[in-house]
Amino acid sequence: MCFKNAGCGRHRDRRAIMDFFDAHCHLQDKRLMAQLEAVLARSSQAGITRYLLGGTDPDDWKRQQELQKNLPARIFMSFGIHPWRAAGLDALAAQKTINALEEALTAHGRDVSAIGETGIDKGPRMTNNSLKMQTLLFERQLAIARTAAKPVVLHVVRAHEEVLAALKNARLSAGGLVHAFASNHDTAKKYMDLGFYLSFGAASGQRSTAALVPHDRVVLESDAPDMLPRGHTTPSGLNEPSSVRLAAQALTTTLNLPEDHILALSTRNIEQLLKSGAAAQAMPQ
Ligand SMILES: [Zn+2]
Repeated sequence: MCFKNAGCGRHRDRRAIMDFFDAHCHLQDKRLMAQLEAVLARSSQAGITRYLLGGTDPDDWKRQQELQKNLPARIFMSFGIHPWRAAGLDALAAQKTINALEEALTAHGRDVSAIGETGIDKGPRMTNNSLKMQTLLFERQLAIARTAAKPVVLHVVRAHEEVLAALKNARLSAGGLVHAFASNHDTAKKYMDLGFYLSFGAASGQRSTAALVPHDRVVLESDAPDMLPRGHTTPSGLNEPSSVRLAAQALTTTLNLPEDHILALSTRNIEQLLKSGAAAQAMPQ
């Protein structure tokens, strides 16, 4: 028997048992690392206690490892070369970085949950002549993800056609997620057909697409420390993983579900994605 107000263990402290996921953040960013304890405390307070990171470059992967060493059950590492980093590399540096990625995976692959964030960015901050290098490194990382049988974390800005074409060629075994998805339902469907999850942040404007994505394909992210939701302030002045709760709040009307329910389904989907990676790795290549 259980009376909600009678001190039953299951209901006494509901917040204490919340164990939700942030599908995409950069806790290893130096700005967050400098105040990690407070950032993590606020995140736990909001019920967000596990983090799938997005990797950017070799130094960043080292900081991910530092974090994971201290919080092994809460940090899920993703090693990759961010399109913005790729854009600034010449051919020699690009090859060195790919070598570094392969070496890091050989040494620590078992602890690495995903490859990325990788993709193609044709937004205003990128120059056209970076496109070739971005594409080359994206395709190399897809090949690595296929060999390692790990899911990929995608960063795609105004380049869905190119990215979808590359994904079709890559024939990944463990799928992945498209972080900060901000396109229409047709595009969403093409990713879902390839086994991908779509990740939504607290920013508005994505709700109409999220409404059309089946519940078993929606995940929520903060993208901390960047992308501080408009009108929202934090003690750090940065976007923090706690904003995943705002992402859930933003979708309550659209999905017609309570906030915690949305957080729970996002968490279950991320667990499923990580599980499919583990299952693919267990299969003979
Ligand atoms: Zn990111």
